[in-house]
Amino acid sequence: MEKYDVIIIGAGIAGLGVGGILQNKGFKTAVFEKSKVVGGRSRTFELPGGWRVDMGTHCVDQGVHSSCAKLLTELGTDIPWSHNLEGFMFYGEDGKWKPMMESFNLDEVERKELKDFQTWIKNASDEMIDHYDNVSLTKLLEERVKSPKIGEFCKTVGMVQTTLTESDIISAGEFIHIYRDQMRVSKSPDLPFDAVRMPLGGVQTMMNAMAEAYKKRGGTLKLGTPVRKVLVGKSGPTELVTDGGNYSAPIVVIAAPIWNVLRFLDMAAMDQLAPAWAKRMRECEFETSASMGYTIGTKVPLFDDKCYLSAWRVPGLGMPLQILGHTNFDDTIAPPGHMIAFMGACGTPAQVGDAAFRKKTLDQFWVVLNRMFPNMESNLVWKQDGFTIGIDGLSRSPGMTGRYRLPVELSEVPGLYFSGDCYLGRGVGMNTAASSAVICVDAILSKHGK
Ligand SMILES: Cc1cc2nc3c(=O)[nH]c(=O)nc-3n(C[C@H](O)[C@H](O)[C@H](O)COP(=O)(O)OP(=O)(O)OC[C@H]3O[C@@H](n4cnc5c(N)ncnc54)[C@H](O)[C@@H]3O)c2cc1C
Repeated sequence: MEKYDVIIIGAGIAGLGVGGILQNKGFKTAVFEKSKVVGGRSRTFELPGGWRVDMGTHCVDQGVHSSCAKLLTELGTDIPWSHNLEGFMFYGEDGKWKPMMESFNLDEVERKELKDFQTWIKNASDEMIDHYDNVSLTKLLEERVKSPKIGEFCKTVGMVQTTLTESDIISAGEFIHIYRDQMRVSKSPDLPFDAVRMPLGGVQTMMNAMAEAYKKRGGTLKLGTPVRKVLVGKSGPTELVTDGGNYSAPIVVIAAPIWNVLRFLDMAAMDQLAPAWAKRMRECEFETSASMGYTIGTKVPLFDDKCYLSAWRVPGLGMPLQILGHTNFDDTIAPPGHMIAFMGACGTPAQVGDAAFRKKTLDQFWVVLNRMFPNMESNLVWKQDGFTIGIDGLSRSPGMTGRYRLPVELSEVPGLYFSGDCYLGRGVGMNTAASSAVICVDAILSKHGK
């Protein structure tokens, strides 16, 4: 049986991050990935004719200051980045897109209230954020915000941060944390959303760079190799079963989301070894975010804003809206002069998982989008509809962020670790995965450091 110091399951951000750092520290590691390519949910698809299409938005919050960028540095690699996002455009009831500040048309008193609230967030301590992890965004806004306009603005920001559809199910702690860290790197006095960037060439550029860095340091990357079973005993993981053979390592890191883990980890053994953890894993399988919508390619740009286009509720649909024109940030991903745009509506996993609801909503959504962009249909080159359940890991809901998240290690099962956007870590999706990788490595080094 082939033996390694550490085996990692999953070649997404978390798995390649953990593998790369440990390989640097002198461990003999292998990363097993069921797909034939690296990246996991952070993937770019190529369409004939020179289109490189990311799934969804795949903006890296805080760009060059992000946990993702720090992880790349730690792995000894770098990537080219797009320029920064310039903020938000909101869709108004009058059917017009306007910059966020214009759209809200705040008076003197409201402006001061927004400024005071932002200052409070900017100065938030980690302890205060810990306190708000178990509080909803609704409650935070009731506590600290009087103006309904500022309330709606914060709900929209919270929705974009977490892909969750109601402020009741958005954790105030995570909202404050992401907002605070944006403000700390922002150059904009009013709206701290200008530090967001994208890897040029699509998010795959970042994933390929991580994979190359890992291999350069001697890591073994086994693509197209699903792990069918992880066997665990009292003293830790004993064996990994794949179609091509069995492997062993004293340390196994599961860098896959929980909805995958339940399929290959021996849960009967886990029920005996760590019953509370096994119960929680089963309970939160569908505690995640979901969205549906379209990615389109058009002959001409439909809009040229270098912003996130959003609305708390899509008129006629009642769901939150997220739109991003990828080619407004990166002209290398489409034929010259053409546009790629993602247009999504966030829903609950139950809504998005219901085929009849999905079909009806996607049809209505297309009608609304044509109203928003009247030149869309006539300039369409291609369109893909799609949906995702499990966008950015475990929901960032009250009682599920910060210290409440699934742990990266279990005291009952030495040698078994977890990493990724479902586990301990902070920030918007990819940053949660990257920060979780660092937390996981620290936990491993503190017990098994060389
Ligand atoms: C549509 C969409 C839009 C998104 N937009 C953004 C955004 O704008 N900004 C942002 O920050 N985040 C965004 N995200 C979230 C982001 O993609 C994820 O948070 C991030 O990729 C999670 O990385 P990970 O390493 O934790 O997990 P994953 O990327 O899911 O990696 C896990 C890997 O494990 C592999 N695996 C699973 N089971 C097995 C097995 N049995 N054997 C071997 N391998 C296995 C999987 O194939 C996968 O490659 C978006 C996600 C989606 C789906």
